[in-house]
Amino acid sequence: MEKIFWSDYTTNEIKNIISEEDPLVIITVGATEQHGTHLPLNTDTDLGFNIAQRIAKNSPVKTLILPPVWAGFSPHHMDFSGTITLKQKTLFNVVYDIIESIIQHGISKIIILNSHGGNMSLLKTVVDEVGINHNISPILVTYWHLISSQINAIRKSEMGGMGHACELETSLKMVFSPQDVQEDLMEDVMIPENEFFSVDMFAKNKIGIYQPFKNWSESGQIGAPTLASVETGEKILENIIEQFTELIKLEWVDEDVNEKNN
Ligand SMILES: [Zn+2]
Repeated sequence: MEKIFWSDYTTNEIKNIISEEDPLVIITVGATEQHGTHLPLNTDTDLGFNIAQRIAKNSPVKTLILPPVWAGFSPHHMDFSGTITLKQKTLFNVVYDIIESIIQHGISKIIILNSHGGNMSLLKTVVDEVGINHNISPILVTYWHLISSQINAIRKSEMGGMGHACELETSLKMVFSPQDVQEDLMEDVMIPENEFFSVDMFAKNKIGIYQPFKNWSESGQIGAPTLASVETGEKILENIIEQFTELIKLEWVDEDVNEKNN
């Protein structure tokens, strides 16, 4: 099988791949932070990196994956032991510099695959700045956003059940890293929504606010991990990969076809 990890190639090999195959490069940005009573600190980084591997294996264009960025913007989780956070400007510099490096080597197709809510707004700034300075626009995808139209048909929980170390993340962990899920420690923490805001990952919130996570949840999780299952995880994953494949086709396959036809 062809190697999908950028850093498994030699410098000469990567040079040839870039010039001959014009690959798509995925950079995953996760976090090392608390994930409630039943999931480990690796959860976001592990999920993003595993999803990227499935994408690469299904991708209609040659796709390579960079080593994962394992720390994110997580100050709101610092009340919980084990969390590591970068300052926004540090995370900006890390991701921006990595992208500038691969652009310098000739990469123009770039996906930032984000797997941590706290990284979202900063990573959009990275995309904007790269676009302004390089005339290349990396595509930022926070993976669960891709399945916002499909999720209601998949989820067992009501609104509030998918927040953090929740039905969604626990189900995906059951698929990728079942050894990481301590099912006997799973506990639901449901936080009621109000007219302006819900903690659910799929909420269309009217406002943005900052809250230390402890204000929401003493134990660290938000949502309904007890409703998680391998079956739900597989459905979620299947839909994510389908959407990614569509996105890649739309951005880079149809474009090539159009260019050839012109
Ligand atoms: Zn998470």
